[in-house]
Order: sequence, then structure tokens, then C-alpha cells
Amino acid sequence: MESLTPQQLRESFVNCSRSEAEELPLPPGMHEVDWSRREYLGWRDPRLPQRGYVVVPTDDGPVGIVLRASEASMRSTAPSMCGWCQDVHHPRDVYFWSARRAGQAGRNGDTVGTLVCGGFECSENVRRTPPPQFVGFDVDAVVEERIAGLAARARRFAANVVGVHN
Ligand SMILES: [Zn+2]
Repeated sequence: MESLTPQQLRESFVNCSRSEAEELPLPPGMHEVDWSRREYLGWRDPRLPQRGYVVVPTDDGPVGIVLRASEASMRSTAPSMCGWCQDVHHPRDVYFWSARRAGQAGRNGDTVGTLVCGGFECSENVRRTPPPQFVGFDVDAVVEERIAGLAARARRFAANVVGVHN
């Protein structure tokens, strides 16, 4: 994704108030982010364990989304697969995150949900060398495909939150 300034990042949020967007914690180490290796930016709120934030690049610019993790999914020990990176080889905590939709739909209580890595490690996961069963495959092509898949799934979720159906 392309790099964002803190101000662009705050302005990208679609499902919270302006004042909430002004006050939300910026991603830790934002100045060190290697944007070229990120399909989206995601981080947790250090004060609110159930709160997460993602910024997803779309054709209409970056879309920032406030997420809330379900308590049940945070407590669960059963492994789930992340719906975005679909990583099954390096199991980590995957939470069920829900997002209030943008605009009137969200004010009416409409939400959309998705299973995503609890620490938003998807971009790392898709860049890992594929496991041994991929021997004989074009490893770079496998990684490229996983990167493209992650970007597409994150974008689809963002479109759902914004309410654009494509
Ligand atoms: Zn993931």
C-alpha cells in the first residue's frame, strides 16, 4: 500500500465520529512501517483490548475501520483460520472482529464481521516461505498469489463496511 501520514490515516476512518478519529491511538512505530510490504495496516488499541483498527487501500482511497473483537473469540482456544491471509501453517490467535458500517446503516446498528489475525500479522504471514508441500511449485508465484488474495479480501471487507457493492 502507499504510505500515509498520521493526518491521512485519521481522515480515512469511515465508521467513527471525527472526534473519535482524532483521538484514536496511531499505530505503534508508524514511522518505521514498510508500506510496500503491507496490504493493509492494522493495530490494536493499547488501552482497549477488544478494540482494533485497520486501514485498507481501495480505489477510492484509504478506508479506516474501527473493529471490535468478540470476547468469545478472544477466549477461544480452538484454532480459527484468518479470513484475510488464510494462513493455516503458523497458527496464531484469530479473532472475530465486527465493524459498524459507515453512515446511516451503522447508525441503525448494522455491522459486518470477519475473522482476522488478532495481531493483524496477515502481511507477514503471506510472505513466509510456503511449507514443504509446496516443493516443486513456483514459490514466488505462490507468495504473489497469497499477497494478491489478502489485498482483495481486505478490500472486499472495506467495501462492505463502506456499503459499496462490487
Ligand atoms: Zn491473517
